[in-house]
Amino acid sequence: RAKSAGGNRFELADPEADARAITRHGLTTALPTALDRGEFFIEYQPLVHLGDGSVRGAEALVRWLHPQHGVLGPDRFIPLAEHTGLIVPLGRWVLEQSVRQAREWRERYAQAGPLRINVNLSPCQLTHPRLVQDTVEILERAGVDPDALCLEVTESALIGADDDLLKPLRRLAEMGVDIALDDFGTGYSNLANLRRLPVSVLKLDRSFTQGMQQYPADPVDLKIVEGIVSLAHSLDLAVTVEGVETGAQAEQLRILGCDTAQGWYYARPGPPERLHDLALVDATG
Ligand code: C2E
Ligand code: MG
Ligand code: MG
Ligand code: MG
Repeated sequence: RAKSAGGNRFELADPEADARAITRHGLTTALPTALDRGEFFIEYQPLVHLGDGSVRGAEALVRWLHPQHGVLGPDRFIPLAEHTGLIVPLGRWVLEQSVRQAREWRERYAQAGPLRINVNLSPCQLTHPRLVQDTVEILERAGVDPDALCLEVTESALIGADDDLLKPLRRLAEMGVDIALDDFGTGYSNLANLRRLPVSVLKLDRSFTQGMQQYPADPVDLKIVEGIVSLAHSLDLAVTVEGVETGAQAEQLRILGCDTAQGWYYARPGPPERLHDLALVDATG
């Protein structure tokens, strides 16, 4: 469709690009009210201990049930929410829901051990002055111990981070909240820099897991993961692997010393009842 209004003579040759642009515009417009209308929901994906296969917790992943477009994944709207600033109240909402969910799991499935919840934090939330205060209040309101919570920050958000940016994360870490470095291995960060960061978990990016698809895996991929795991463990960091889709991948990553895994092989992200089932099966043997 040609844009004739506003003196714009430019004609779009690609109707798909046009549709995408309209959708992006439409989504951006609909975003501010979506939170009030209750259109967001959270799916949870289990985190499984590679040693014994037990469920240790879950990562909260937000979705948007758009009245016209159906369920949209975070890649479609998180960048828009960051751009418009909605990410701050949306992120706070995700944190609050997830922490309450963690309390319910801990109460109902105490036999499954202290289940934990991982919540993604966008760079805008990191620099928000109320991050620490909001997090403390949410934990207190829900009556949840800080050690039930792990905040995931991408490696790229912390590249070149100065002390001002790290200070709130340090305070949260001192309180007992775990900080995980998400998508690790994609950001070309200085490995020596890891010592400076208040992180206790490395989440190895899915691209490494993909290298473990065949059995035996590519020897170079094996060496790289082996090196990262040994570096992480020598710095007292736990290693979680993302995107485990097959038993062969799980087995090789277990042999390489990775601690926890997440992926379709165990479970796709789903409603909280899915974790109820898994944790219960687990606890009763
Ligand atoms: P992430 O934090 O790295 O989350 C892992 C992504 O990998 C999720 O995509 C998950 O569904 C997907 N995944 C899990 N297992 C497998 C697997 O075995 N194979 C494959 N191919 N994929 C797998 P999702 O849910 O689309 O989320 C995408 C990204 O959106 C997340 O990446 C995270 O960065 C962001 N995100 C999600 N929820 C939130 C949120 O509440 N706040 C913020 N700021 N970002 C969020
Ligand atoms: Mg994550
Ligand atoms: Mg990740
Ligand atoms: Mg990832």
